[in-house]
Amino acid sequence: MNEPGDRYARQARNEALMREVNERIAELGESAQAWSPDGVVEFLCECGVEGGCGERIRMPLHVYETVRAQDDRFAVRPGHETPELERAIDWTDEYVIVDKVDAAEPIVADDPRGAPSK
Ligand SMILES: [Zn+2]
Repeated sequence: MNEPGDRYARQARNEALMREVNERIAELGESAQAWSPDGVVEFLCECGVEGGCGERIRMPLHVYETVRAQDDRFAVRPGHETPELERAIDWTDEYVIVDKVDAAEPIVADDPRGAPSK
């Protein structure tokens, strides 16, 4: 079970799981904006490492929304990218937004909101 495809499929499943958690966090964040005036919310890193890396990323809710607007985009901690699967399209000291390379898209689960990948 050490085929690269298996590893990537497992990673994609873990990423999808982190994404589900972050969707809940985003929902909470919307109602929490009253005490978070800058709109920054703590999300979980979506790097898809086995069991989740558990690291947090602080990201403004509106930036998170731009990540979720495409179903092949994820937000991870700097250094948590997987170069074989994704390329960075935007980054700060706090987070990197990655876009899945075409070869990886078939194994990435559909976005919970059903957003298009292009
Ligand atoms: Zn991570």
